[in-house]
Amino acid sequence: MSGFRGRDVLSIRDLSRADIDLVLRTAKKMVPIAVGEKRSRSLEGKILSTLFYEPSTRTRLSFESAMARLGGRALGFSGSEGTSVQKGESLADTVRMVEAYSDAIVLRHSHEGAARLAAEFTDKPVINAGDGAGQHPTQTLLDLYTIWDEKGTFEGQNVALVGDLKYGRTVHSLTYALAELGSHLIFVSPETLEMPREILEHVKERGLSFRVAHRLEDVIRDADVVYATRIQKERFPDPQEYEKVAGSYRIEVDMLRDAKRDLIIMHPLPRTTEIAPEVDRTKHAVYFKQAFNGVPVRMALLDLILGGGA
Ligand code: ASP
Repeated sequence: MSGFRGRDVLSIRDLSRADIDLVLRTAKKMVPIAVGEKRSRSLEGKILSTLFYEPSTRTRLSFESAMARLGGRALGFSGSEGTSVQKGESLADTVRMVEAYSDAIVLRHSHEGAARLAAEFTDKPVINAGDGAGQHPTQTLLDLYTIWDEKGTFEGQNVALVGDLKYGRTVHSLTYALAELGSHLIFVSPETLEMPREILEHVKERGLSFRVAHRLEDVIRDADVVYATRIQKERFPDPQEYEKVAGSYRIEVDMLRDAKRDLIIMHPLPRTTEIAPEVDRTKHAVYFKQAFNGVPVRMALLDLILGGGA
């Protein structure tokens, strides 16, 4: 029996290397069920609440698909319109209600720390599906799964994180995880959107070398993985500041001429202008596969938390 039963997943830093290994190995076994080839009822009778105060496509739908593939149910809302939040209900009160309706809660919120706060008001497991510019741990698990599945290892991989490293929660969580797993990190961003200092300090403390760059062209030939991100328009206090950095990076087919043959290009999606559509047809593009991987990875996590687990 793993230590996952009934557990919250609030930050990727709450998971040990052994926990991450277990999720990845369990996810691999879930693939035939995720594609509908095999059947499972392991979460029959279980209910998952999905509280999405911020927009989502992949995260919410893949959590729902994961529950359904394992015989469980999901209920929830997407956008607080039409809920009692409009009447001024606090997050704490909403969570107290919802815990009575379900076995676990998935929460996305614009405030950093919202999931941790919610977890204080319920004994049911809370899964952070994105808290402002903070963390997005389940995205990181599927990102790690994708790298592991494509490359077989994390050790020694040159991983270039590109775009909005200041506000991007996916790259915050991913950096913490890869710092434990021995990848070499290359941070590529406009000067105003660099990775927060405390995260860089953490990487240093782990004894890992990393590089900071501003031009993708300078690093692309060394990269084994390019992880492109959207500039997080909604997090900018000043729209003019956003305009200055909008469209800073765009991966075009031409740029891939000097890239390693087995370079993989990832993106948590949605993309805006970061990756030209022509790149989709190259063997480097794995972002749609990455999005699919969200289903077996979330199935694994839910089964470990709510079911018999591994
Ligand atoms: N979907 C990801 C997130 O929720 C990435 C993004 O929105 O740019 O953080």
